[in-house]
Formats: sequence, C-alpha cells, structure tokens
Amino acid sequence: MQPVLTFTDSGIYCPAGDFYIDPWKPVERAVITHAHADHARLGNQKYLCSKDSVPLLQLRLGQDIAVQGAGWGETVQINGVTISFHPAGHMIGSAQVKVTVGGQSWVASGDYKTENDGLSGEFEPVRCHVFITESTFGLPIYHWRPQAALFGDMENWVKENEAAGKNSILLGYSLGKAQRLMYNLQHTGKRFLVHGAIYNAHETLLKAGWNLPPVELITQETPKEHFKNSIVIAPPSTADSTWMRRFAPYSLGVCSGWMQVRGNARRLNADAGFAISDHADWKGLLGTVKETGAEKVFVTHGFSSVLARYLQENGIPAEEIKTAYGTEEETTV
Ligand SMILES: [Zn+2]
Ligand SMILES: [Zn+2]
Repeated sequence: MQPVLTFTDSGIYCPAGDFYIDPWKPVERAVITHAHADHARLGNQKYLCSKDSVPLLQLRLGQDIAVQGAGWGETVQINGVTISFHPAGHMIGSAQVKVTVGGQSWVASGDYKTENDGLSGEFEPVRCHVFITESTFGLPIYHWRPQAALFGDMENWVKENEAAGKNSILLGYSLGKAQRLMYNLQHTGKRFLVHGAIYNAHETLLKAGWNLPPVELITQETPKEHFKNSIVIAPPSTADSTWMRRFAPYSLGVCSGWMQVRGNARRLNADAGFAISDHADWKGLLGTVKETGAEKVFVTHGFSSVLARYLQENGIPAEEIKTAYGTEEETTV
C-alpha cells in the first residue's frame, strides 16, 4: 500500500487524492493549512482551506483565486480521499489537515500553538497513524509563560513608558501576532495605532465578522496628540526605520518567541522583548505528538533534527523532512 502522503519537491502530496498540502510550487489542487505566505502561495489552480482562512487567502493571493472553505471537522472528498480541517491555534483560520485513505489517517499540522489565545481557535489534538509536525521552537530551552502573564508584563511596560513620557511601540507579525496583541490588550482602553499592513488584515477580518477592537491607521497626517494614550502596533520590518522616528521619544518592544533568548532584544535595538509565540514550545510539541497517538512522526521546518532525534530516543519513530516552510513570520524575529 502506498503512503497516504509523500514528500515531493513541490510539497506534501497525496497520491490517492492527487492534491498537495501547502505546496511551494504551483499545482492544480492545493489544500492550505493557513494564510502565512510560506504555506499559502500564489499560482495554484484550486485552493481548499478552512472557512475562516478564505478571506485571508483572498487578501494575500487576490480575490480571483478559486477557493473553497470547509468548516471545522467537516469532511470533504477529493478523488475518494477524505479530508477534514481541525483548529491549529496558530492564527485565525489556521488548521491541521487530516487525510484518510483506506482506514489510514495522516495529519499535517501546518504551524500550531497549544495555548488558546482567544482568536485562533482552541488547538485540537487529532488521533492519527502518522503525524507531520512543525518544529519552529523545537528545542528544550523554549518554554512559554502563560499569555496572561506576558500581557500583564506588556501592560506594565506601557505604563512605565507613559510615566517616562515615551510612546509605546510593539512589533509583531502583521497576520496573527498583531491581532492577538490587540485582542488581548483591548481591556487597557488604549487607542491602537497601526501600520498599513496590519490595517489591511484588520479590515478584512472585521468584514469577515471578527470581533476585534477598533484601530487607527497611521498616516503622515496622524496628529501627534494621537500618540498619547496609544499603543503603536507595527510589523518587525519597521524596526529602526524612518517610519518609526515620528513616534520619538518612544520605547520599542518586540513580541516573538525568539525573545526568550537573552540578547536578542538588544541585538534588534529594542528596549523590551516579550517571548510570546504563535508556535508550540518544546513541551507543546512533545505533548501534541503523544496525544495524536501517532506511530510515526515526520518533523518539518525548525529544529527538525533535534526534535526527530529526541522522539526516536524516546521510542517514537521519527524522521526529519526538508520543506520550503519557515520563511515567514517568526523565523527571524
Ligand atoms: Zn504560520
Ligand atoms: Zn510554518
């Protein structure tokens, strides 16, 4: 019997169903885990993703793509193969894809986070024979504090900045992290001033019915008084840019799992680093592998060799797989 999924130079392929999961080369039929650019690429003829991902895919790839959405747990048949989407908790719409052929179930995780952030859906461990896991933070040093504690730290930091007469700028990836920050800091009553990339995602999500706090787009005309009693949310690419200088005097905070490593915030010229990630930490990865009950694990993008070796040493057959994922969001900052 051939495997349910195989690894090709175009992406993860299902021979029985003739479709790809998150292909990195253009194909006829693409099943997409989530709307980050390294998982959802342009040029495929047909797209299938979770319902919540549809507007985000259209935002990223254009309104004219041929896209079909499926609800959580709903089954879709492609050439006799059963596919279903299960919450991955990584960003709005992010899904694990379960593929079943002849009683054999494989799950491709895409990117996932086990802590519920209030927006991205509650991560669902899915029982399967074979599990394909990411490993972005697959080292034992990565251990996230609960997000309530991290948001508490951010809130105190904003207060300290205000007391020192400084504006607060938080850097976070525009799709996923930015919404998570605003959703969980809205109780502070601060105005959210946002960069254009974040504004576009926000408008799309509001239109799709998401209950997100109001934001104000930062433009040349934004009056300086608006910087008061506000939190500026911007993507990592704006660090140290001329765009940022208008907020002086300011304090810069970076929101990323990489901030767990001492020195990374300083290296980015940031005043504060908040180790908040949209990926599972080491324990989250190991716990998930266990909960799937998988008898074989394939490890993709991240610290894949470390995680694969650790699983093997602990009696779970595992193999490292090279993919083209991991080039966006939390890969550098
Ligand atoms: Zn992602
Ligand atoms: Zn990824």
